[in-house]
Amino acid sequence: MKVHNFSAGPSVLPQFTIEETAKAVKNFAGTGLSVMEVSHRGKEFVAVMDEAQAMFKELLNIPEGYSVLFLGGGASTQFLMVAYNLLNKKAAYLNTGAWANKAQKEAKLFGEVVEVASSKEAVYNYIPKDYEVPADADYFHITTNNTIYGTEIKHDMDCNVPLVADMSSDIFSRPVDISKYALIYGGAQKNLAPAGVTFVIVKDEILGQVEREIPTMLNYRTHIDKDSMFNTPPVLPVFAALQTLKWIKEQGGLEAMQKMNEEKAAILYNEIDRNPLFKGTVVNEEDRSLMNICFVMNDEYKELEKEFFDFATSKGMSGIKGHRSVGGFRASTYNALPKESVQALADCMKEFEAMKK
Ligand SMILES: *Cc1c(COP(=O)(O)O)cnc(C)c1O
Repeated sequence: MKVHNFSAGPSVLPQFTIEETAKAVKNFAGTGLSVMEVSHRGKEFVAVMDEAQAMFKELLNIPEGYSVLFLGGGASTQFLMVAYNLLNKKAAYLNTGAWANKAQKEAKLFGEVVEVASSKEAVYNYIPKDYEVPADADYFHITTNNTIYGTEIKHDMDCNVPLVADMSSDIFSRPVDISKYALIYGGAQKNLAPAGVTFVIVKDEILGQVEREIPTMLNYRTHIDKDSMFNTPPVLPVFAALQTLKWIKEQGGLEAMQKMNEEKAAILYNEIDRNPLFKGTVVNEEDRSLMNICFVMNDEYKELEKEFFDFATSKGMSGIKGHRSVGGFRASTYNALPKESVQALADCMKEFEAMKK
């Protein structure tokens, strides 16, 4: 039976990425050695790092004046690194979920944090829109895709202060106007690579403006100056990330990704809205994520939750359990998830409805 991988992270990767990485684990770039056992300073791996940075710039159309970094530590380390490097006195945060909250918590170690708005009272089922960012904030931090709750900011907003975005779970899902951002970061394990590498896109001119001393490894400047090779980078995940970038290009780039993601999401949201057994947890269409689609049983069918889960599992649906703070179901529909998998889940919901009616 085909298994459809709806896991929220680590998550589905293109078959191309898995196969090319498997080959390089055995014999990397004709060296006769595994990519896991050669020097990161050898010419073969330096070429991988250079190409991965170049492809990031090409696919995202990154303007001059920005650096691309591949680091360890996950997006969670970026929560503190952003503040360490950018927060002098005051920073503004939009509270759209657990990750946004954790980012804010770290920033408080470095200065004043203004929460401009929050959707916590509604279990984060919408993106707040009515707020003002203080003009004297050093930066404004947003989480573009809220992996747990299934909400997403799908446009690049204008901002009166430098804009910082956690794009862990929607990077490469659509074209992004990088020039609107001062810094973008994310863990790669949602839409790009296996766990272990964190990407950062940073506008060089925003650095060097804080007064405090920054420890070497937590200073973006260290990694910019050494092309992400100050210390040993996560070699295997960087190699795999490059394969995914090649695959995205081959598919037609980010416009093609966006089109496919919109089509996939439409299949599932349409079924959620049509099927009387289910309802979406995010009602406002504008806020609905194209990457993580959350739904629950409709009130009168609440007791069927486990039965549907078992039924879907028996049909090959994997990773659809919702996060414990939301309950119900979450189907993650990242770039590499084929449309057929989304259709299979929608069919499964239809079939379950027919059984219960
Ligand atoms: C998964 C996730 C994180 C945490 O990433 P780690 O790499 O595990 O630290 C942060 N932000 C968002 C939006 C995420 O989806």
